[in-house]
Amino acid sequence: MKYFSLNKKSPVVGFREATINGQAPDKGLYFPEQIPSIDPNLLANIEKISNEEIALSVIAPYVGSSIPADKLARIVGETVNFDIPLVSITEKISALELFHGPTLAFKDIGARFMSRCLGHFVQGIDQKVTVLVATSGDTGGAVASGFYGVDGVEVVILYPSGKVSSVQEKQLTTLGKNIRALEVNGSFDDCQQMVKQAFADDQVRAKRFLTSANSINVARWLPQQFYYFFAWKQWKEKDLPPVISVPSGNFGNICAAILAYTSGLPVSHFIAACNANNTIPEFLRTEQYDIKKPIATISNAMDVGNPSNFVRIMEIFHQQLGDLRKVFSSCSISDDDTRVAIKTLFSKKHYLMDPHGAVGYIALLDYLSAHPGLKGYFVETAHPVKFYDVVEPVIGATVPVPSSLDEILSREKSSVKIDAQYQQLKEYLMV
Ligand SMILES: *Cc1c(COP(=O)(O)O)cnc(C)c1O
Repeated sequence: MKYFSLNKKSPVVGFREATINGQAPDKGLYFPEQIPSIDPNLLANIEKISNEEIALSVIAPYVGSSIPADKLARIVGETVNFDIPLVSITEKISALELFHGPTLAFKDIGARFMSRCLGHFVQGIDQKVTVLVATSGDTGGAVASGFYGVDGVEVVILYPSGKVSSVQEKQLTTLGKNIRALEVNGSFDDCQQMVKQAFADDQVRAKRFLTSANSINVARWLPQQFYYFFAWKQWKEKDLPPVISVPSGNFGNICAAILAYTSGLPVSHFIAACNANNTIPEFLRTEQYDIKKPIATISNAMDVGNPSNFVRIMEIFHQQLGDLRKVFSSCSISDDDTRVAIKTLFSKKHYLMDPHGAVGYIALLDYLSAHPGLKGYFVETAHPVKFYDVVEPVIGATVPVPSSLDEILSREKSSVKIDAQYQQLKEYLMV
């Protein structure tokens, strides 16, 4: 498979280069030259096929010969070695729980796959490799956990001070070893901007071999297709494909879902469920793309004013908004509605959602009430305990802490504080 830059001003590269570069030299996102079709036998027999086999069939055409087959099988096996259950909540609504991995959020899957691919690729590089990443919350923890102890790779994580949950912060700042956390006095978009500047800075790049681990990296983006196939494996009514509601921030997760659909996965409709950060719902309404300043919400991992991956979604639909609209819609949900939904579903169905999942749930509920013949699932992107500060007051009860988190919460935070000024990041990187 070859990848081209969506800015169309960079050379076409293979999976290896696309993974190592993160972003193309012209600052475009990489996109596969062809979207492969899933083997119809795989879809027909999916209930009998193991998750490892499904994932391997999905990803193999994207990786090509850049990783030997046995190594790729091992990487995939380590990526999907935890439960991804589709849990039925009401007659029409299920939750696809993606929070059973090591950092209790869906980003574990992409981060685990990417870190292992990169670990394989850097074996041939004799410069220090730095993974530079901005996080709005869960990326950092997943990346830190994925890369922890990987030889030859240092990870530098920028996060907005005071704008990630206390559990998230511990996951970023307590590992040590090859993982460094920079606590930025600013917003997530500031962090992302600073990271972009570093990638464009030749002096920094001469000093360090920089690569990204954000959802723009193909090795993080593409494996996010896996769990939509696992959901189909568990979907009971094969003659009525699901409506899929994805709580969305940077739109990487939903873009992977749409890619899976383009490869042949049966889906009735996609909903990109946003919080108050409504750039895409507004774009669909007005057909005018206005970048907005991010607004802080209780679903903070989706506080994104300019979702990077939306250009990939437009590319899948060949820039035809009419075609996009046939299978895709997007809406914006308030914090108040999110709190009410968490409380209501908990008291009525004893199902506890985190604030991100809850945004997806409300969007799905609204869509299904307008389309009564359909059923669907929302993606539960994080364990509610990661957002206990939001969830506990809403339900008036404490959320039991899984033992894996207990240990992290007891560790000492270690971060370097910087202002939202590129110069400060540069000084740190030039040492
Ligand atoms: C990152 C994240 C999202 C948003 O995913 P995108 O791929 O950026 O749209 C949603 N929920 C949680 C918990 C996240 O960590």
